[in-house]
Amino acid sequence: MSYDVIIVGAGAAGLAAARRLHDTGKRVIVLEARSRIGGRAWTIAAAGFPLDLGCGWLHSADGNPWSDIARDLGLQIDETPPPWTRPSLTVGFAIEDQRAFRAALDAFYDRVEEVAQTGKDAPASECLPPDGRWNGLIGTVATFVAGAEWDKVSAIDLHRYADTGVNWRVVDGYGHLIARHAAGLDIALDCPVRRIDHGGRDVRVETEQGVMTADAAIVTIPSALIAREQIVFAPSLPEKLAAAAALPLGHDDKLFLSLAQADEFERESRLFGRTDRSGTGAYHMRPFGRPLIECYYGGSLAEALERGGPQAFFDFAKSELVNLLGNEFAKRIAPVVEHSWGTDPFAGGAYSYAKPGFADCRKALAAPVNGRLFFAGEACSVDDFSTAHGAYLTGRAAAEAWLAGGRA
Ligand SMILES: Cc1cc2nc3c(=O)[nH]c(=O)nc-3n(C[C@H](O)[C@H](O)[C@H](O)COP(=O)(O)OP(=O)(O)OC[C@H]3O[C@@H](n4cnc5c(N)ncnc54)[C@H](O)[C@@H]3O)c2cc1C
Repeated sequence: MSYDVIIVGAGAAGLAAARRLHDTGKRVIVLEARSRIGGRAWTIAAAGFPLDLGCGWLHSADGNPWSDIARDLGLQIDETPPPWTRPSLTVGFAIEDQRAFRAALDAFYDRVEEVAQTGKDAPASECLPPDGRWNGLIGTVATFVAGAEWDKVSAIDLHRYADTGVNWRVVDGYGHLIARHAAGLDIALDCPVRRIDHGGRDVRVETEQGVMTADAAIVTIPSALIAREQIVFAPSLPEKLAAAAALPLGHDDKLFLSLAQADEFERESRLFGRTDRSGTGAYHMRPFGRPLIECYYGGSLAEALERGGPQAFFDFAKSELVNLLGNEFAKRIAPVVEHSWGTDPFAGGAYSYAKPGFADCRKALAAPVNGRLFFAGEACSVDDFSTAHGAYLTGRAAAEAWLAGGRA
């Protein structure tokens, strides 16, 4: 069968593009390698709750298109400010130290702005003060923001990230919201795309379920997988591969723990495992007031834990929490679920960062090829990268670009 547009990948970007084209009456199909839709937006039911293993926060929520879509679908939005905008618990982190850390973090971001404005695309680590007392914990922030340590991250790219400072959540899950947006779309699951031939009149897409043709294709797979040539392009696209290789996906993973006698902790509070070095976890206590801890690990720590598997995540969480809260605390926690995005063959990591010197690669990755091959996904966004709304906006933009110039 021939389509107007074939969309590769049923994540936030692919579904946004498909929704737009489908609702305009175009013949469109989404080819998805997994047995489910959503990609890095994935809500599962565990311990009696909807838990987001990928995106959870509607970042820049006051301008985030997913906020409006959630409301239109009648989904409940929780506007409680996130733990990182409020003081942490004081266990192991006195209030005066928290203030000093916050001031050091603000100074770091001011320095990132100064460096970015010089136009020199330095590693963000150059914006840390030599021997700064809080460099370790600011390094931990890097692993949450970028999934990588600051020395690997472009200061210009970091500075371009847009953030209104408003962060909300969808009570039933961000992944659930994104999956609901797909209602009525034509989606082929378990359908990995292997090769895209864009040299002829039509685009020819080879999948494990056979060959399909279309006027155009919109490719939304993660940049890490483009760089790995998980899909082969014919003719080859060396500039695309180079751009994708400069936009690797960092490592970030969540582990959910059940928590007995949860009421002892303030709801929506937070602990850092350590404050004196990087390579530590953030522990979100009682998200939505639930008897759970959402543990977050990033960068090389997450990469090492991924190699050890679920038990390594739990052992690490237990050791950090027991260190803060005492040996008896070990009896109050049990693992619920964890997902390793770095070893996930259809993700290749958590979200993209730009290597120093390569901030402009996002535009290069997003650039269409001959009006028939389009690229979308969070890594294609110049200022909303690493987010589900950035993915949405790039998917919509690719659909609009085809509608504006397509042959159908
Ligand atoms: C732990 C974690 C926490 C996060 N937290 C947040 C957050 O709080 N807020 C936020 O906004 N964002 C967050 N993110 C990032 C957000 O989830 C992603 O930026 C967004 O979901 C990416 O959407 P996408 O469409 O670009 O890519 P994806 O969701 O990765 O979609 C690409 C799709 O392509 C499919 N695919 C891959 N290879 C093939 C192939 N060969 N053939 C066919 N299909 C293929 C994949 O299976 C996938 O479904 C988080 C991510 C992680 C991992």
